[in-house]
Amino acid sequence: MKKIEHIGIAVKDLEAANATYKAVLGSKHYKTETVESEGVSTSFFKIGDSKIELLAATNPESPIAKFIEKRGEGIHHLAFAVDNIKAEIARLEKEGFKLINTKPKEGADNKLVAFMHPKSSHGVLVELCQEK
Ligand code: ZN
Repeated sequence: MKKIEHIGIAVKDLEAANATYKAVLGSKHYKTETVESEGVSTSFFKIGDSKIELLAATNPESPIAKFIEKRGEGIHHLAFAVDNIKAEIARLEKEGFKLINTKPKEGADNKLVAFMHPKSSHGVLVELCQEK
């Protein structure tokens, strides 16, 4: 794994959160994107070499809606940049980690992504992401 690519934060209201993080970081988000298959709307902020990804649910069945229902708003996942996502998935499985996605899928921000189960990583949902 190369670096922390981004930190994902679950929010109830994307516009309100965009305004909050603009004030916190001192710069505006540089893009928004809806991934309908995942039930999320996202916006991205650059902060140095890393990013903040705000995630809001697009429907009540969205994993983000369920996360907020259970745990409230807050840090949702940590994403690590990888060069070869298939090789990383294979390596982690071999190490005995439980992957939610054993095959890469389309994510926001022009990425292939796969999630590792939080039970495998001390309560943190880990995302692997590879630039397409
Ligand atoms: Zn993410």
